[in-house]
This record gives sequence, C-alpha cells and structure tokens, in this order.
Amino acid sequence: MSWEKNVRTVVPYVPGEQPKELNVIKLNTNENPYPPSPKAVAAIQEIDPREYTKYPDPEALLLRKALAAYHGLKTEQVFVGVGSDDVLSMAFLTFFNSKKPILFPDITYSFYDVWADLYRIPYELCPLRDDFSIDPNDYMRENGGIVIANPNAPTGRMEDLSMIEGIVKANPDSVVIVDEAYVDFGGTSALPLIERYENLLVVQTFSKSRAMAGMRIGMAFGSEKLIQYLNDVKFSFNSYTMNAPTLHAGAASIEDDAYFKEQCAKVIATRERTKKALSALGFTFADSKTNFIFATHRSVPAAEIFAALREQGIYVRYFKKPRIDNYLRISIGTDEEMDTVLAFLKTYLAGR
Ligand code: PMP
Repeated sequence: MSWEKNVRTVVPYVPGEQPKELNVIKLNTNENPYPPSPKAVAAIQEIDPREYTKYPDPEALLLRKALAAYHGLKTEQVFVGVGSDDVLSMAFLTFFNSKKPILFPDITYSFYDVWADLYRIPYELCPLRDDFSIDPNDYMRENGGIVIANPNAPTGRMEDLSMIEGIVKANPDSVVIVDEAYVDFGGTSALPLIERYENLLVVQTFSKSRAMAGMRIGMAFGSEKLIQYLNDVKFSFNSYTMNAPTLHAGAASIEDDAYFKEQCAKVIATRERTKKALSALGFTFADSKTNFIFATHRSVPAAEIFAALREQGIYVRYFKKPRIDNYLRISIGTDEEMDTVLAFLKTYLAGR
C-alpha cells in the first residue's frame, strides 16, 4: 500500500509483563512492594468532585510547588509529567535536535534508543566496561546530547557524582540528562549540580521509591531556562498531561517524608540481605544501589533459571540481548517474597 510508505514506523519498547493472576510473586518491573503513603491515598479520596468536572491545572502548580519546596528550588526549576517516561520522551524531543549523535551506554534503559528512533535522533552507544562501569572518556567528544541513568538500569550500578559532574562540565554545548529513577534507594543525586550547570537535567519518578507506578508521576529538575524550553514543547503537545487526582496524591506523598524514608529503608535492608543470600547461592552481580539486583549464576544459565522461576509463579526480568543474556534482573519484594524466591532457588540449584 502506498500510504504505508509515509508511516512513522518504530520498533516499540516492550515493558515488563503485567500478569493477570494475583497470586504471583512479581519481581519483574521494579515496582515497590509496599503501598504508597496513606496520605496520598486519602488525598485522592478527599478530592472535591468539581475537580473532575474541570480541566486540571495545566501548570500542575500544586505538585511542582510541593517538589520545589521539598528540594529547596524555585517552582520554575521543576517540570512534571506522566511518569518519567513522559518526561524523558519530552526531554529527548526538546533538547536533542542536533545532527550530531546523542550518546548513552550500550547497556542501559532500553527506552532511550526507542525514543531516539521515534524522533529520528541519531545516536551512538558507548560500551560499558565489563564490570558495567562507565568510561567517562567516551563522553568527551562531539555529541548532540547525553543520557545517563544513575544508578543505571538494568545493571543497578551507581557512578560517583564526580564522574557525572565531569561529563556535564566537559559538555557545555549539550544537554546532559541524568535519569535518577532509582536514586532514592541509596544513590547520590546530581540535583545540587543544577544550580551550577545550566545544561543539566535531572529526571526522577514516583514509580519506584514512592510506590506510585500506577499514578504515573515523573519529574525533571534543571535551570529555569531548560524547564522553560521543556514547557514550551509540552504545551505544544498536550496542556493537560497531569490529572487532578494525581496532582493531589503526588503533593501529599511529598509531604509525608517520614513514611517515604521508612519505606526506602525497608527496601534497602531487604536488598542487602538478598545480596548476601544470592552470593551464597553462587550468583554474582554489580553492587546495586537500586530496588533490584542484576545477577548472573556461576554455572546455571539465566534463561533456565528464568523459566524455572516462572513455572513457580515468580516473575523476574530476562533480557535476551548481547552482553546481558546470562543475567536476571530481580526486583526487591517484601522480605516474605524474597524468602520464597531464595528458598526455591536453593532447592532448584541444588538439584542441578
Ligand atoms: N528510567 C529508568 C531507568 C527506568 O527503569 C524506568 C522504569 N521503567 C523509567 C525511567 C520510567 O519509569 P516511570 O515512567 O514509571 O517513571
């Protein structure tokens, strides 16, 4: 068909499976195993029904002000969107408008190349070292922009802030996006650097540490200039990306800092315990600062372990991709869930 020649064809991103059964152990999409702040839930229940009738605030001020106050920023330094996927996609569209290739690691969040293809942005992959670390020299050449997930996904590894700063500093002619989806689980945020570097955009999300993946809230922090450019593109696309209940729930979550810190500490404690247990079972992994562990077994292929877990109703993530096809990405669940997984792995591996 001739019209098909004009279609914007893309190979879409494939999100982790969302099983319909309820009695599974779901450790495949890095969700939080705990509920969100009760104050966030209450905020939705208490909403005035008239808010459903009207369009939501296109400026999303309730949430942006809460985020600005929390981080000691101006509201004009904060952008929000429908999950950080929306924020990142908008940032790619806004800032990566050069003929020079954008740069990101060969092993990283697998949506980056999809957005680059969708928006026809040229890109080059910078291979991670064998220990999954970044070689900063890869980012010291001409480019149309840079994206780094820190801590990285799916590896879980975190780079020092000094390295991130070095990359931002060496690239004043490009926007550098630091994707901090997992930073609240023990990482160090690049957020303080936005006051010094006009070209740095720090992206975060409510989906992991705030247990609100279903609400879809992501945010970006940067110089007022960067945020203004992002807003111009957003308002050229869809003014009302954030719905009213989401704005209320997000602001309430930010205000409940004690709950937030407590839940993050719980996930971190379970992760550290799980690391020890996985090591004892013959797994190795980069030291994770996230809510998942990216592990490989010394003798049993990842694909086989994945299939065996799946048969037990335990969902983890397996990427059939070069360099990482012998790894499993295991999200951190509750202590009870991790105990079930570890007990199964112990029996399964002993029987092999
Ligand atoms: N960045 C990274 C590195 C991720 O792993 C994810 C989760 N898939 C996201 C961004 C997007 O998360 P969300 O859209 O739920 O904020």
